[in-house]
Amino acid sequence: RGCVPKKLLSYAAHFGAEFEDAAGYGWTVESAEFSWPALIQAKDREIDRLNAVYHRLLDESGVRLFQARGKLLDSHRIQVDDEIITADKILIAAGARPWVPDIEGREWVITSDEAFHLEDLPERVVIVGGGYVACEFAGIFNGLGSQVHQVYRGDRLLRGFDDDVRETLGREMVKKGVNIHFERNVQEINAVNGTLEAVLDNGEKIPADCVMYATGRVPGSAGLGLTEADVKRDPDGSIVVDRFSRTSVNNIFAVGDITNRVKLTPVAIHEGQAFADTEFGGHDRPVDHEFVPSAVFTQPQVGTVGFPEAEARNHFGAIDVYRSEFTPMKHTLSGRQEKTMMKLVVQASSSRVVGLHIVGLDAPEIVQGFSIAVKFGLSKEQFDATIGIHPTAAEELVTMKTLIQG
Ligand code: NDP
Repeated sequence: RGCVPKKLLSYAAHFGAEFEDAAGYGWTVESAEFSWPALIQAKDREIDRLNAVYHRLLDESGVRLFQARGKLLDSHRIQVDDEIITADKILIAAGARPWVPDIEGREWVITSDEAFHLEDLPERVVIVGGGYVACEFAGIFNGLGSQVHQVYRGDRLLRGFDDDVRETLGREMVKKGVNIHFERNVQEINAVNGTLEAVLDNGEKIPADCVMYATGRVPGSAGLGLTEADVKRDPDGSIVVDRFSRTSVNNIFAVGDITNRVKLTPVAIHEGQAFADTEFGGHDRPVDHEFVPSAVFTQPQVGTVGFPEAEARNHFGAIDVYRSEFTPMKHTLSGRQEKTMMKLVVQASSSRVVGLHIVGLDAPEIVQGFSIAVKFGLSKEQFDATIGIHPTAAEELVTMKTLIQG
């Protein structure tokens, strides 16, 4: 559930546009048809395969796996079904759960958890939220042929991202056919004659077959016995940890979305590895949460590492900004009116690149590579001294000349 099935659905959604784009390259694609059940079955098979791999790895490592709920009784004892197990050290990685605000008609809505298992592709979908999950699923349903309305209370998607990213993504998603309702919220959801209706706060009514909420996640810390074990939590329920992932109790640790750090899967894996190295590998390894790259698998995709322009200005004072917007080569022949946006944010005094942001084809793959340069403090001159690969979109990042702000 989560990243992997989402990426598979995202691949599926891209094909719709690919078939259209192929015409510009001389292809005739006749009556392409899509089957949601076939996609879901294929996705489930892959997830089952992955689960089996993980089970085998645990098995081969000699891990005893309890497929049950666990509850701490104190700092060393855990109740698992009718057994009590004890441990020197305990690591909690119970993640987070989707959260839906308490609105009228809440019983009709789904979250991303259910979206992965819908029996049919809904013809009309309302998605509430403007974060990672909302934008990704808006792109998925839209790409697969649903009519999508996205309702977001803010004025630009993806709060916390660079403003150019937010603007470009919103514009491109609208071009692709997503109906985005900015500065709106859903007031209530009604079930009328077997179909749903989302009523917005301006009175507008949007008929829908599916209303999906992607309004954030809350730590899954309830019922784990954290109070009994004296593990300190923030008011939002997340477990408080230090940079070694140690909780307020000396022998209990926590990693991933149940703690209040950067909530991304590879970060959780990194935290787990650092915990293992520190506690069992003989060398102290704190987790470094600076310059964590991330991607949003929208259409087009987003990739980002480091500071957004506005934050960099607050943090570093004088900055230089380089920005480029262009038609990716693929779309010269496809005729698709889609732009790629790339941006470098540079600390003026040191010339260090402190932010790198892309909206466009292959953005996540590009940013993963460049994130090493950004994390380890390379300068704009060092970017410029690197020779590009021609013709690629990524070469733009080592040839950016247009300083739009100094
Ligand atoms: P986010 O926190 O990213 O987004 C939640 C959205 O819901 C925001 O747009 C927020 O608006 C809106 N919202 C919150 N409360 C309300 C409300 N009461 N009424 C209306 N709108 C509301 O959460 P997601 O669920 O999208 O993702 C959860 C986490 O999962 C993220 O933190 C992300 O790190 C991770 N994730 C990462 C992915 C990736 O790496 N590609 C993919 C999917 C998830 P506002 O902006 O105004 O607060």
